[in-house]
Amino acid sequence: MTSTLEDLLPCPVLRPGDAGFAEEVTGFNVAHPHEPDAVIAARCADDVATAVRWAARQGMPVAVQATGHGANSPMDGGLLISTRRMKRVDVHPDGRTATVGAGATWRDVQRATAPHGLAGLAGSSSGVGVVGYTVGGGLPVLGRAFGWAAQRVRRMDVVTADGEQQSVATDSEPELFWALRGGKSNAGVVTSMTFELLPLARIYGGSAYFDGAHAPGLLRAYAQWTATLPDQMCTALQLLRLPPLPDIPEPLRGRFTVQLCVAWPGDPAEGKRLVAPMRAAAPAFIDAIGELDYRDLDDVYRDPEHPVPAVEGCLLLRGLPGGAIDTLLELAGPDAATPLLVVALRHMGGALAELPATGDAVGARDAGYLLQTVGILAGPHAADVAPATAAARAAMTPWSTGHTYVNLHGTPGDEADRARAWPAETYDRLRRVKGRYDPAGLFRFGHSIAPAE
Ligand SMILES: Cc1cc2nc3c(=O)[nH]c(=O)nc-3n(C[C@H](O)[C@H](O)[C@H](O)COP(=O)(O)OP(=O)(O)OC[C@H]3O[C@@H](n4cnc5c(N)ncnc54)[C@H](O)[C@@H]3O)c2cc1C
Repeated sequence: MTSTLEDLLPCPVLRPGDAGFAEEVTGFNVAHPHEPDAVIAARCADDVATAVRWAARQGMPVAVQATGHGANSPMDGGLLISTRRMKRVDVHPDGRTATVGAGATWRDVQRATAPHGLAGLAGSSSGVGVVGYTVGGGLPVLGRAFGWAAQRVRRMDVVTADGEQQSVATDSEPELFWALRGGKSNAGVVTSMTFELLPLARIYGGSAYFDGAHAPGLLRAYAQWTATLPDQMCTALQLLRLPPLPDIPEPLRGRFTVQLCVAWPGDPAEGKRLVAPMRAAAPAFIDAIGELDYRDLDDVYRDPEHPVPAVEGCLLLRGLPGGAIDTLLELAGPDAATPLLVVALRHMGGALAELPATGDAVGARDAGYLLQTVGILAGPHAADVAPATAAARAAMTPWSTGHTYVNLHGTPGDEADRARAWPAETYDRLRRVKGRYDPAGLFRFGHSIAPAE
């Protein structure tokens, strides 16, 4: 007789209709609700391995979710492995590393590392899961200064599609280790990960807000300014149309604004001097750029903290010539009628362009800027969001590298669209790794790719 998941697992197994099922499958992005046949609330690597082995025997596809920040496409059937309880964080101050469970968020890591004056390379929101972020490469707020989060990974424990548990590093299953640093969850479910920390307690950074009427001047100033900046200066410029909702602070609520995001790990006085040209470009109605405790890194981007039904879009740009800025202004400038809440430019380059000796599958090294759009599937313009996301991508394509960044790619489309998240040779190599470690395509949700024959 075939064993059921409930027979095999000591952790909760929930099916549609069970109490707690909806809460377990729902994460941060509520635009694309998951509808798996079952979800397991994993507590340890053995739970994950048992569930994967069981699913492989049934031929049932498997997905993994920690926080749901990357839930960009709905899961219809299959087995969902929820890792949100696997939140353990162990800091090793002497070796300057941390080992985290699959469910740990950057907030969990920051709480554990800050007392040691150490920090990990977190992204714009501390609610994001460390593992899900890092398997996509992990674009940190301080990326131009210190490179991709994936470059700092020393070791990963992973469950592959055959249900085997492996500990992978540069000297053990190096090809699998390569793919798990930038290739998303195509080759397995990571159950724990060890990565390097930096001695970092304070930075110069934060954000400043300008009235949207200044968008044309600010975009042009930003293009000139970023062309002159040292690598360590990490910035973004965001065109924001935040909705008139009560939990959005009054000066930003229901208004078109421009946000300058700054993070500089060097001398604060030098940071202030470097930011001066942007402060001179237009009057800010909020200027909260100054010395910042690294624990308050979320103050740089001020991303939403509560679940949202978001549709994301992304394109890597080679540069920002006048034509690109004019097109951006047509799409999202003061006179544009767009349902997109956020149209953002992140300055890339610096350490993000460097390929480490160990190599990895990160695909966004050759970009000058990352263009990101976010729309919300709510309100009277919900139906316009997907077409506006596609239109923005198409309009900016003449200045693009032709590629996206997998973590911010948005809803993955057909295989050709998925392939755009990596350079062709990285994508081909990832397909070969997928063919070796997941030939049946057990992990076929999210940003999965086709295994090579
Ligand atoms: C508000 C916000 C801010 C963001 N800021 C940044 C940023 O600054 N830089 C950046 O690079 N990205 C950023 N992202 C994107 C984010 O890194 C990705 O969405 C990432 O996948 C989120 O991981 P998660 O585990 O939190 O989300 P989940 O939705 O739980 O997981 C997303 C995907 O990650 C993979 N994954 C998760 N856990 C595992 C595991 N244990 N093993 C293998 N694969 C796994 C799976 O493919 C899964 O489908 C941001 C997203 C949001 C919504």
